[in-house]
Amino acid sequence: MPKCHYCEREAVVRLPYAKLNLCEKHFEEYLLRKLERSIARYGMFKKGERVIVGVSGGKDSIVLADLLSKLGSARLLVVHVDLGIGEYSRKSSEVVRRFSVERGLDYFIVRLLDYNTSIPELASSLRSRRPCSICGVVKRYVLNAVALDLGFDAVATAHHGDDISVYILKSFLTQDYDQLYKISPVNPGIKGLAARRVKPFYEFYEFEIEKFAEAKNLMYVSEKCPFKHIGWLEKIIRDLLEKAEEEAPGFKIALLRSHARRVLAVEGRSAEKPKACASCGLISEGSECSFCRLTRRALGYPLGLQVRRSIVSSAGFTIRADSKQA
Ligand SMILES: [Zn+2]
Ligand SMILES: [Zn+2]
Repeated sequence: MPKCHYCEREAVVRLPYAKLNLCEKHFEEYLLRKLERSIARYGMFKKGERVIVGVSGGKDSIVLADLLSKLGSARLLVVHVDLGIGEYSRKSSEVVRRFSVERGLDYFIVRLLDYNTSIPELASSLRSRRPCSICGVVKRYVLNAVALDLGFDAVATAHHGDDISVYILKSFLTQDYDQLYKISPVNPGIKGLAARRVKPFYEFYEFEIEKFAEAKNLMYVSEKCPFKHIGWLEKIIRDLLEKAEEEAPGFKIALLRSHARRVLAVEGRSAEKPKACASCGLISEGSECSFCRLTRRALGYPLGLQVRRSIVSSAGFTIRADSKQA
């Protein structure tokens, strides 16, 4: 490796899109500045706001929690959803717990097994849906519920630019414009129904997250979820974007920025009025939210309200009048 661009030390990473070689110290400074700029550029959250970080225990979310805590601008709560996927979930929640304790970060773990269910169980009774999509619904629901019921301003997740740019192209190629317009670095909140959702790694590459975790020797769960599935179209798009990035470093960031400009310009123009789920009171497209609908189909009853009540009681709070709608 050549020398760092800013000092005499040996570089640990090369960033082709920025034409920089950086040592460990300057790499961290670079990522912190990049994160700070992304948060400001898209108005993700303001100094002093209370922000939930969804942490699965994998490298992306551990690095996000690490960098956000070092940035120190928001008041953080680490939230982990234990999906009940055997050894994988046991390991993941242990990593999140140890990480949070070591950093002195507040953390909150929601266990599906406490509600007598799990992703494998939900997946086997809902054969028509992929486990990944069930998992997505569950995690989104829990993070939103914790944010609203404990009074947080935003939910940050560690989706990075490599994955997001694939979703953008996939939605375009399948002409799924509803989905396309939902992909954004910031999804504004709706009072009492949905918390603001932000993706601070919107312009981050996976390789820089991985290099950083390696350089800092961060502990994370390296095993992939046993249910992880990547479809053929995603593979093709991923390869295509990789080639474009090689040809023109920074290609993905340019794509992500143009997409964000377009999407943020039309946001709020949606004709649809957000509704409250009849079962749990949180945001819903139909009469019942996707989480309540999904658990009703799999278990025979909707789980939303029970999850919300136990979040409130286990955190030692009481449900505020404005969020009690069911
Ligand atoms: Zn340096
Ligand atoms: Zn619901």
